[in-house]
Amino acid sequence: MSHELRIADLHATVAGFEILRGVSVTVRSGEVHAIMGPNGCGKSTLTHTLMGRADYEVTAGSATIDGNELLGRPTWERAQAGLFVAMQYPVEIPGVRVTDLVGAALQAGGAPTDDLDTRIAAEADRLAVRDEFLERGVNDEFSGGEKKRVETLQLALLQPHFAILDEIDSGLDVDALRDVARRVRAMTTEHDLGVLAITHYSRLLEELRPDFIHVMMAGKIVASGGPELADRLEADGYEGLAGELGIDELVLRRPEAADPFGDPTIATNPFADPLG
Ligand code: ADP
Ligand code: MG
Repeated sequence: MSHELRIADLHATVAGFEILRGVSVTVRSGEVHAIMGPNGCGKSTLTHTLMGRADYEVTAGSATIDGNELLGRPTWERAQAGLFVAMQYPVEIPGVRVTDLVGAALQAGGAPTDDLDTRIAAEADRLAVRDEFLERGVNDEFSGGEKKRVETLQLALLQPHFAILDEIDSGLDVDALRDVARRVRAMTTEHDLGVLAITHYSRLLEELRPDFIHVMMAGKIVASGGPELADRLEADGYEGLAGELGIDELVLRRPEAADPFGDPTIATNPFADPLG
């Protein structure tokens, strides 16, 4: 069965500052979409907002899977609706092995776990994850590359409808990048996984071969297209593309906190000449 993740006109604020300013993207089963954008344009905010992190407040818009609203629901319900997030900075969970974590998640969703050890071993093999990392707590003192391989292993075992990969390429060496990207790409054909891959480098995209590219600047998608858009970015850079599109705000800058002493129109220098 084919599924659809539809993000429509999503607005979100953090601590009263609007970061997402109307994001719309629709991903269908089997498709790979990339969202590219400079650091600080709101990519991780989109990830956190979709998965329901508490400090991000949705002020408008919707995010649905097959028409069912995800926003406003607890994170575990979003996961059970078929959404998976590989975080840019995966949390370390000492004392909880990946088997425990994946087993609990599968059980909670009513999926069978009888042959889980065999399935984990097979995935570990495909992703070149050594046994040692299956025995330790999830991400507990793992290197950047090991964390992302194990995130991908969890993704492959949980088989969600959609995966959001937030800079899965950050901290990866070329071998890990290739293994992770190939495994994700294979899931799009083996399980019809829909992917939203967030990155600011085109290196990941060479392996992942996205069908659609979206460029995000200052909390909005400013351009969408096919793979050629990534080539254009590679050639012109974000600044160049922004210039071509007539955009002057690439990233979001939180305004300075209200501070009367920060206002240059108010004289604060006691030595200043009040009449000068
Ligand atoms: P990206 O992932 O594209 O680098 P982020 O979504 O992490 O960008 O950040 C966008 C902007 O929102 C930045 O200015 C960042 O400082 C701010 N921001 C993001 N999350 C928070 C938060 N939890 N608290 C305060 N500011 C935040
Ligand atoms: Mg980020």
